[in-house]
Amino acid sequence: MHTELSYPHPATPELGQVTTVAPGVHWLRMPLPFALDHINLWLIDDAENQVALVDTGFASPQVQAAWREALRLRLPSRLIVTHFHPDHFGLADWLMREWNIELWMSHSEFLTGHAVWNEIAGYQLSASLALYRAHGLDEERLEAITVRGNAYRRGAPQLPERFHRLHDGDEVVIGGRTWQVITGWGHSPEHVSLYCAAQKLLISGDILLPRISTNVSVWTVSPEDDPLADYLRSLTRLEALPEDTLVLPSHGLPFVGLHARIAQLRAHHEERLAVLEAALDAPKTAAEVITTLFSRTLDTHQLVFALGESLAHLNHLVALARVERLRHPDGRWRFVRIA
Ligand SMILES: [Zn+2]
Repeated sequence: MHTELSYPHPATPELGQVTTVAPGVHWLRMPLPFALDHINLWLIDDAENQVALVDTGFASPQVQAAWREALRLRLPSRLIVTHFHPDHFGLADWLMREWNIELWMSHSEFLTGHAVWNEIAGYQLSASLALYRAHGLDEERLEAITVRGNAYRRGAPQLPERFHRLHDGDEVVIGGRTWQVITGWGHSPEHVSLYCAAQKLLISGDILLPRISTNVSVWTVSPEDDPLADYLRSLTRLEALPEDTLVLPSHGLPFVGLHARIAQLRAHHEERLAVLEAALDAPKTAAEVITTLFSRTLDTHQLVFALGESLAHLNHLVALARVERLRHPDGRWRFVRIA
């Protein structure tokens, strides 16, 4: 087994330009207004000189202009979306209208996007604030989250109202080549990765990234979930793919070495769990352990993910019976190591 990752395409494409990473598969890179400043999108040659699009980018005039440039010489045949997050799904409605194409994605991702957009079904801001308060976030930071409002709608101003459903195991034929749908969990409810066995290519979406670890968060709608267990199970499924698979991730560079990367990610989460467990010699809230897991200063956007990520690790320790969750008389949840 290789222990190092290799990056066969180290030069990133310019805005609106594409780099071909395998026969008939092209890489498009779009800007993101966050610390994570870019997303990779993929164009796959389809029938009649058209291209199937995978993911959309975060809504902005700059991204729309880059799409127009990229699609000047090639027409899109259809849109496939890996998951509902705004950098992946945000311009779906616009692309569908502008080029008269249809959308393929999983059922849970489609509906979750609508729930978050509309702030219903457990995705209300008030529900999030109540959860974050119960997990120890102070009023000043709760206020900053309130002021921020519905961040999802900024990246996804309008959502489509119809789609074609993708299921785990589906085979999607694009330009004569078969791509297998592999669903994954923990980052989002029913994330779609696409694997082409003939070309040994994996469009991994956000499930497998070369440098950063995928965000795995607890959300208000299911506060006692164990999304880290879900995520680790998703990695196990990708581990069945061949060693020389070229992984096309949503962030960072295309890479070879998925087994080494999966081993690194497992070790990373094991280490995070051990650090957290060690810190819980006395009862602490999830907000109190954020600094145990994240040493850097966090803006409001990062804070929400960091709290969700802390809770994911805490809930996993609870599921493993290494940590106990206690409700204190002040209404706050605290976690403590089981001696
Ligand atoms: Zn994502």
